[in-house]
Amino acid sequence: MGLLIPLNIMIKTIQKSLSSLMLIELLKGMALTGRYFFAPKITVQYPEEVTPQSNRFRGLHALRRYANGEERCIACKLCEAVCPAMAITIESEQREDNTRRTTRYDIDLTKCIFCGMCEESCPVDSIVETRVFDYHGEQRGDLLYTKEMLLAVGDKHEKQIAADRDLDKAFR
Ligand code: SF4
Ligand code: SF4
Repeated sequence: MGLLIPLNIMIKTIQKSLSSLMLIELLKGMALTGRYFFAPKITVQYPEEVTPQSNRFRGLHALRRYANGEERCIACKLCEAVCPAMAITIESEQREDNTRRTTRYDIDLTKCIFCGMCEESCPVDSIVETRVFDYHGEQRGDLLYTKEMLLAVGDKHEKQIAADRDLDKAFR
């Protein structure tokens, strides 16, 4: 029995062979490269350049203080309760002046999904997410942020945090 090859398959094979022989694919690829060579560049030279950020950017968390240095957090634990990733752990005690403050406030950033619900739930604007995104951990536990670490982030970026919240309120 002879070997029968359908006509359409034969035409396609010839077309493919001719295309390979004339380097059509290579020329197409070079034309595409050439087009993008002259197109406006969308890459940025990080860290010297950064892309624009929203004032609602949800980056590294921070705990804020009032202008007199007092911690804002009143240990109501709403953020802990609302966190879908159960990333927040709070312990608290009552002070001599009858106010309640945290003795422990940890966020496990390996669990956090940066949903912003802790920030939304906080009645005193204490826990916030900053614009900081370039942080990392090299060892297990480096991304477990303690109260002291979170307060330090808040102290460092308070100016930007306050400006971002003011901007937010202006558009509400
Ligand atoms: S951003 Fe979301 S997941 Fe992360 S700590 Fe806050 S509530 Fe939890
Ligand atoms: S950060 Fe805000 S929501 Fe969380 S315990 Fe403190 S006051 Fe309550």
